[in-house]
Amino acid sequence: MEKVQIAGSIMDFYAQLCKNVGLRKKDLIFPIFVSELSSSGPLSNSNDMSGMNKIALKDVVQNVQKIIDQGISSLIIFGIPNKRDIGASSALSNEGIVQNSTRKIKKEFGGSVNIITDVCICQYDLSGHCGLQIKNHDATEGNIDNDSTLDLLSKIAISHAEAGADIVAPSSMMDGQVIQIRSALNSKGFKNTKIMAFSAKFASSLYSPFRKTAYSKQIHNYKTLDKSSYQIGYENPRQAIREVQADIQEGADMIMIKPSLLYLDIVSMIKDKINFPMAVQNVSGECAMVKAAARKGWIDEEEWKVSSIAAIKRAGAHSIISYFTMDIAKYLDD
Ligand SMILES: [Zn+2]
Repeated sequence: MEKVQIAGSIMDFYAQLCKNVGLRKKDLIFPIFVSELSSSGPLSNSNDMSGMNKIALKDVVQNVQKIIDQGISSLIIFGIPNKRDIGASSALSNEGIVQNSTRKIKKEFGGSVNIITDVCICQYDLSGHCGLQIKNHDATEGNIDNDSTLDLLSKIAISHAEAGADIVAPSSMMDGQVIQIRSALNSKGFKNTKIMAFSAKFASSLYSPFRKTAYSKQIHNYKTLDKSSYQIGYENPRQAIREVQADIQEGADMIMIKPSLLYLDIVSMIKDKINFPMAVQNVSGECAMVKAAARKGWIDEEEWKVSSIAAIKRAGAHSIISYFTMDIAKYLDD
């Protein structure tokens, strides 16, 4: 394999590379996946997600301690419940896995950790969609019902805020989700709870490794689940800009773009045109591709981890959500 020529130690080289693009520990957000299973285990049985776990409630505090010990203080929580139902009831339950985990983390670590919670129904609803589905007259599945989904998202966001979330992150791409959640939070006294809007979430098979973990048990067609009616198409940068502008007008405190590497032109364009706090998520498929290619000996894993995150920062992201957060933290002084 051809390697980049490196003078001095490889650690120094990567540390300098991170420094050159301005990467700091405070820019990094670690995704954690909390599960209703009684014990923790790997996120996936394949090696391509190695190092990532489904964390049982009893192990949450211990896992967060390890993240804090690396100097990372922001994390985003995704819930993986045991059961789905029609209407995603466990997504808004006070005893839901995200709510219980958030309460435990806040009780232990208080303000020293910044908790962001994923607000959506796709891990909880029987359909696997990010919005509630209307049934057709012949009882087949019909379109997504934007407005009834907004009510549900607001209730989920309030339950996360009550549990202690610092930032709620609506990821369903429903129109009007930010304004509706903002007014619901305000009406319950959560004016200080911030909103990170998943503003430009592109439809992509790059989410597949995560979906395999979170969906495959009850949603057998998870590989072909079509979310293109509410997510953005590859070819549509203008829609990405419109979605970002709409979310800012609706009161988002931070906007978010995902996946990352195929969309760095969009990240750069939004930085130039809008310049608003922007997070970018390096998603499960992007992590899995690096690990799979490295295992085959085709690429150098460490080089790709560092250069992926450095490239996202270079393109203009303020914050980066990545499975590689812990791997990168070791190169950063602060
Ligand atoms: Zn979703």
